[in-house]
Amino acid sequence: MACDRYRRLLPALSDRELGPLRRFLVARHAIRCAACSTELEELEAMRTALRTRLTYHRAPPGLAARIGSALPREAPPAEVEPRRWARPAWTLAGSGLVGALAGIALTVVVLGGHSAGGDRELQGVIDSQIRARMADHLTDMPTSDQHTVKPWLSARLPISPPVPELKDVGFPLVGGRMDFIDGRPTAVVVYRHGKHVVNLYAWAATAAADTAFRTTRRQGFNIVSWRQSGIAYHAVSDCEADALMRFAQEIERAATGS
Ligand SMILES: [Zn+2]
Repeated sequence: MACDRYRRLLPALSDRELGPLRRFLVARHAIRCAACSTELEELEAMRTALRTRLTYHRAPPGLAARIGSALPREAPPAEVEPRRWARPAWTLAGSGLVGALAGIALTVVVLGGHSAGGDRELQGVIDSQIRARMADHLTDMPTSDQHTVKPWLSARLPISPPVPELKDVGFPLVGGRMDFIDGRPTAVVVYRHGKHVVNLYAWAATAAADTAFRTTRRQGFNIVSWRQSGIAYHAVSDCEADALMRFAQEIERAATGS
């Protein structure tokens, strides 16, 4: 049955190894299937634990050279990609030397993941915006009633983002939907500004401290990102940057008031 097929792909989803279409299909199934969403949460928890709780030791000087001289001679690859490199090392588990090599490879992957985190999040919200548009599926809960959207999102997420009515300032509410961004369950509150769609993405922040507005432009979209009271926000739209900044300020004000 369909669930089995999707469930086999959950580890690949969690490891960010699926292409955009499969990622969309598997994530969409996981949002709606209790068993798969539980399994995905467990995978994500393990991933986070691996990232944050493992202790790392700096390799002693000369170790790389010793490993190099112990390995059979082979032309070095032109460009070493950490993820690919990690795999052959794991399959040779058993020898202490190779174990050490695998440890180094893992460290490279983990550190790489850290530095790329913010970028992946931004790409995630852009992908989501494009997916929603392609599938003509802006909302799971189409309503301009903030008192319907907010509880609908709160019931499905560990956070409760503000859903202010901003019609008077040029941003009528269109509805809400659920998504997975970078493996995280995410609330998407959808507004309009003229002919433009404005998506507000909100998920539980991994760091506590609030951050100021940060603006980015990518693939024709403007993005305003900030963190406030334990929630990470990204406002995304192809409307003008000034208008999006006004929108972000309205949301920040509403979040302060609620
Ligand atoms: Zn399922």
